[in-house]
Amino acid sequence: MHNTPYTDPESAHNLTFYLDDEMSMLDLGNRMANFLRPGLTLFLYGNLGAGKTTLARGILHGLGYRHVVKSPTYNLVEIYKISRLYLYHFDFYRFNDPLEWEEAGFREYFNPASICIVEWPEKAEDLLPMADLQITIKIHDKGRSIEIRGRTELGKQCLQQWNNQEIS
Ligand code: ADP
Ligand code: MG
Repeated sequence: MHNTPYTDPESAHNLTFYLDDEMSMLDLGNRMANFLRPGLTLFLYGNLGAGKTTLARGILHGLGYRHVVKSPTYNLVEIYKISRLYLYHFDFYRFNDPLEWEEAGFREYFNPASICIVEWPEKAEDLLPMADLQITIKIHDKGRSIEIRGRTELGKQCLQQWNNQEIS
């Protein structure tokens, strides 16, 4: 995996990686899990097949979840409880009814005790709170590039901590 470590303090809130294959995407999620905290909201941007669900799978495994991680495409959300942490994995690709949002009580899922990972956030943009971490995955001939940006204080703190470790 090729990392581009930044020494500029502003860029500490921004990490980029190039990932050759699915295994390295899973591994990145695994390592990322070390820096995630309750209360974080992650937005995952990228085309179909970019690797958003793969990354979420790596994160869940890194947090200690040992079972199959399904894509939430049909249910809009999959709910995980990992010891005392709740993790909500959304996929809004098929989302088109704001009423469903209210009825399903999704708003309450975004709270200080849980982590929310959101695929296709652009499809529910008006309803969602702000992302702490904004992650963009791009497809290349072979592999993927991924950019992780801290958008809030909490998000920036997590990235700073991660960045410090990647450099050292
Ligand atoms: P999405 O959720 O963005 O639609 P998925 O994670 O379901 O994408 O699927 C991504 C596909 O790309 C899977 O077939 C996976 O094996 C593959 N993949 C994931 N990460 C990489 C990578 N870094 N390089 C190449 N292929 C990858
Ligand atoms: Mg997906």
